[in-house]
Amino acid sequence: MPTASAILEEVNLESLLEDYFYAEARALAINRLETSATRGIIEIEGPPTNDENDIVLGYVISRLVLAATDNQALVNYVALSEARRAELHLSSETDEDLVDFVNNLGVVKVELDGSDFNLNFIDYVRAASKLREGDWKLSNRGVSNGIVTLDRKTLIRLMREVIRQHLEELPKAPEEIRNRFQGTIEDLKSEVSKTFTERIGGLNSVVDERQAEAMKELGRFDLSKAPPCFNLNLMDLQAGVNLAHPSRFFITTFLSSLNQDSEAVMRLFATAPDFKESFTRYQVEHISGKTSGTQYSSPKCDTLVSSGVCPGPNALCRQIRHPLSYYRVMAESEKSPKNRLKRILLAALNKEEYPSKLLEKNMDRMGDFDFTYKDSQRRKLSEALRVDSSSKVTVKINHFQGRAYSVEVPNEERKIWITKATVNLTDGNSDFDCLPITDWKIALPVEEAQHKSKKIDLIVKPLEIDLDDNETRKLFLILDIVDET
Ligand code: SF4
Repeated sequence: MPTASAILEEVNLESLLEDYFYAEARALAINRLETSATRGIIEIEGPPTNDENDIVLGYVISRLVLAATDNQALVNYVALSEARRAELHLSSETDEDLVDFVNNLGVVKVELDGSDFNLNFIDYVRAASKLREGDWKLSNRGVSNGIVTLDRKTLIRLMREVIRQHLEELPKAPEEIRNRFQGTIEDLKSEVSKTFTERIGGLNSVVDERQAEAMKELGRFDLSKAPPCFNLNLMDLQAGVNLAHPSRFFITTFLSSLNQDSEAVMRLFATAPDFKESFTRYQVEHISGKTSGTQYSSPKCDTLVSSGVCPGPNALCRQIRHPLSYYRVMAESEKSPKNRLKRILLAALNKEEYPSKLLEKNMDRMGDFDFTYKDSQRRKLSEALRVDSSSKVTVKINHFQGRAYSVEVPNEERKIWITKATVNLTDGNSDFDCLPITDWKIALPVEEAQHKSKKIDLIVKPLEIDLDDNETRKLFLILDIVDET
């Protein structure tokens, strides 16, 4: 705001960081950051307890320190705390001053209309872009001649959102400021870091602790099996992003369906910058059925796509319709070796009717097959096909296709579902077919290599399979991906 900018006019960076005269402003800056990171609030008393200039300069210093910490989660925690503080102050302004403030910020333009406030619907959509649910939707808000009308409370809540979004991005310093500091932004950051080294370390560890605590609660939950929608939303949560309601609902129902107790889910949300224990507990316990008696089920992919939760499908997503199926398919390698082998053979035989005899014949031939390997020698593909042991090969993927296969088991009134990928490898000289991959922890990097036309190192082993009564073929079984890193 112009009045606040005026306070900055005569100040130079060096004295702001070192001069005894600004010690109080520096202390207020750290107080702002520490209370935001730990409790999500900023409590700074105005005059006479604190000088108004110190408060403004403290705010500026806190932005400098934030830039130096390079920690987006911390930036987000602080952004929300600052926005809440602004909301509180705006609530005590007159309607006229509120309009002045909003118009001075320059994000939206409002006009006072009796006791209401009018703004252009484009401004509204831009400002409320992250508040997509319920009453915030433009369709529920009502537009007349391109104008959206808000009451005072709603406008102030909207401004909290505008301020939060604005503060979540640390702006690039304008030319005149860079010139004034006579150095690059990196110099500026390192100068600030020097002054606040210890405090910055402390702030970073508060954030780390908050995040580590949440992850510990997830216990037996295996992140490597989770679909992209879950992992990305979790990463956002960890980075201190305020998740929209559909994302929270998804995370809660997804984890409850996998038997995570509501306490663990609650702790996870404790990393969110706008965490409110009682409200979150109510929501989590309601959704997981603890208090409502109804356990809400996790939404399907279609719903997650239309509500913006899905970040876009990967190769396995294209074979499933529900994120829980994704988790289940990714657990293939946890099945017993015998069951895994049986499922690979079923996928390879690909019969409409359960091939009992053929399956038995193949299983007998394999004996006690297991999926472990050691000391695999590096070989060319053609050589690898001639030995009985496993080999390490560098290949490109000629062909990759995912498919879901199901077959009814006779006398058991159940179906076996297998999500498989058919693959053909090449080392430049010859092409070879593989047994279908049913373990998608392997299939996904294989598909990525094909997609990027990149070479990939695999552990393969040839197996002879009776595909029919009169057709026997030697096909590679892909046992693993070699991650050279
Ligand atoms: S397609 Fe489904 S499982 Fe995959 S990321 Fe999207 S919502 Fe999640």
